[in-house]
Amino acid sequence: MLTDSNIADNTEAISDNAKARAQPDFPVSANQYPVNEFDNYHAHLYYDADSVAFAARLREQIAEKFDLSVGRLHEKNVGPHPMWSCQITFTGNDFDRFMPWLDQNRNGMTVLVHGVTDNALKDHTEHVYWLGEAAELDTSIFR
Ligand code: ZN
Repeated sequence: MLTDSNIADNTEAISDNAKARAQPDFPVSANQYPVNEFDNYHAHLYYDADSVAFAARLREQIAEKFDLSVGRLHEKNVGPHPMWSCQITFTGNDFDRFMPWLDQNRNGMTVLVHGVTDNALKDHTEHVYWLGEAAELDTSIFR
């Protein structure tokens, strides 16, 4: 006499093998809008000879309005940055107020935003965000 009790469940298990993770070597975030997931951040304003005056005004507004630590206005390429730049230091507590304001007031300027951890290479590869057009960083100095 046949019973149903031993009939195997024919539902096929969906294999996860096909989803094996690719592991690219330090993928650079492509035009990713900043996310508040780090304790500390830098924003680097990117500009050139034509936009340095605007950058100077923006830098002063940031210092006054947000009481953030603003670096000097470099008129040469420094560090991994492919353009002239100015560094602003801020925290996750400043993020939600500062980021939307900066995005609305940057007037088309490219701004690199990156998390600041104890790993400078990751900070300039995996922890990178952009306001505006992304640029390619020279990370060879961190390797
Ligand atoms: Zn930085």
